[in-house]
Amino acid sequence: MEINPHTLLKNVFGYDEFRPLQQEIIERTLAGKDSFVLMPTGGGKSMCFQIPALCFDGITIVVSPLISLMKDQVQALQANGIKADFFNSSISPQAENEVIARATKGEIKLLYLSPEKLISVSNTWLRNLNIKLVAIDEAHCVSMWGHDFRPEYTKLKAFRNSLSQVPFMALTATADKSARIDIEEQLGLNDSKLFISSFNRENLSIEVRGQVPKKKKLEEIGRFVEKKKNESGIIYCLSRKNTEEVADYLKSYGHSVAYYHAGMNPEERERVQTAFIYDDTKIIVATIAFGMGIDKSNVRWVIHFNLPKNLEGYYQEIGRAGRDGLPAETRLYYNMSDFVMYSQFAEDGANSTMQKEKLNRMLQFAEAKSCRRRILLSYFGEHLPKDCGNCDVCDNPPKDFEGTVLAQKALSGIARMKEKEGIAMLINVLRGSNNAEVHASGYSQLKTYGAGKDISYIDWRDYIIQLANQGLIEIMYSEGSALKISPVGWKVLKGELFIKLTSPILAEEKVSRRP
Ligand code: ADP
Ligand code: ZN
Repeated sequence: MEINPHTLLKNVFGYDEFRPLQQEIIERTLAGKDSFVLMPTGGGKSMCFQIPALCFDGITIVVSPLISLMKDQVQALQANGIKADFFNSSISPQAENEVIARATKGEIKLLYLSPEKLISVSNTWLRNLNIKLVAIDEAHCVSMWGHDFRPEYTKLKAFRNSLSQVPFMALTATADKSARIDIEEQLGLNDSKLFISSFNRENLSIEVRGQVPKKKKLEEIGRFVEKKKNESGIIYCLSRKNTEEVADYLKSYGHSVAYYHAGMNPEERERVQTAFIYDDTKIIVATIAFGMGIDKSNVRWVIHFNLPKNLEGYYQEIGRAGRDGLPAETRLYYNMSDFVMYSQFAEDGANSTMQKEKLNRMLQFAEAKSCRRRILLSYFGEHLPKDCGNCDVCDNPPKDFEGTVLAQKALSGIARMKEKEGIAMLINVLRGSNNAEVHASGYSQLKTYGAGKDISYIDWRDYIIQLANQGLIEIMYSEGSALKISPVGWKVLKGELFIKLTSPILAEEKVSRRP
């Protein structure tokens, strides 16, 4: 077989060109090195390990937690004439043994496994394979700082240690900085190179509407879908009950709509999903269980009926619209009552603090007064040089003022406290507070102590969140929410870049401003 990556791309997959980063990742892997691939859904991650797998003279192991997707992926590869196979808890022991036998004989190039299977004790056969590459798909599942933690994934490090000479590739569509550091550590990646492809989806418009009562929300959505006859869309709700209510409401106006949630039996869910994929049902009202691995390119809009739990989930969900690159609309509704719902679901333990922080970050995004796309992208470590012009804030910009000096005060406070403290301590220091903790840590000796006396605590909080939203500050959830200065933040601190801030809005004004 021809082993040139480009020829494989053409002859096996039928594509002419690599997408950005694919070729670099493939070359690094062929050179035996580890990589961390952060690309949006649909970005073409699979190709990054599939082509090296065909080049190597042994077997590639692909770890994936999405059992339902595994079969589809393997069938698609087989249809291209590639010797791929899989097993997970859904196949019979006999079929499993057949796959093992073929793998042992060297008849399989790509073997997809669920993490449970990989770490199970009885797999000595695995150690005898000629493994040349290991790809860990959905790698965010290894991290507590991600939003879909799976305990089985933490056992992968032992597997990595047993194969120290083999290149490993971690792939995910969602990981903030804390999660990225954690994933590298947990998977024992060696000197891995991070490849981030742009998460910017210019064709998605972003809109947020706050504090709309439920009845009005339904009416607005009713008018929205009325204008979108014959277009496919998804409405995400927090509760199963809500999905049924919203679907019933739209049905009563004659719309083509179905609901989808985890309380339905698998056959029903399959039926609803298929009808949506084939355009027989136009609108799906669903809990977040819907959409994982659905490859439908012509979803024209996504509405969130409630505040999502975190920005990772939100971005993934709106990302299901407009995969064909044509304009698509997204709208997020949020209410304080959504929080009450979350507190009912809240999990205990160490993880719950982080979940709360992430929920706060989500709310800060919803309440933000600067370009929403810039906020989202900066959360994923990307800096947009200018406002997007395709979000509700860009359409309706608030009045801003030259905020560089104010930003520099906050940034220099963070720097002088060695990037170890959170928002509350920073504000106390800036305001010259007599708080015992401030004195005990010696921060009252800092030059920035009291440099921002003239601004109230609440306003400082607002400004600092604006700085985080503009990507100058990173909030490290893995380090007790300590504030760190981003590369862009350092530029502002050094006076190489100027920024704008908007005046904090009074709470009453906030409510009355909304249509
Ligand atoms: P991801 O795993 O990042 O969500 P996939 O690997 O499933 O994305 O790829 C998404 C789609 O893009 C697939 O249909 C795939 O065949 C296609 N694709 C991948 N690489 C290329 C390329 N270089 N040129 C054209 N299409 C590509
Ligand atoms: Zn914008």
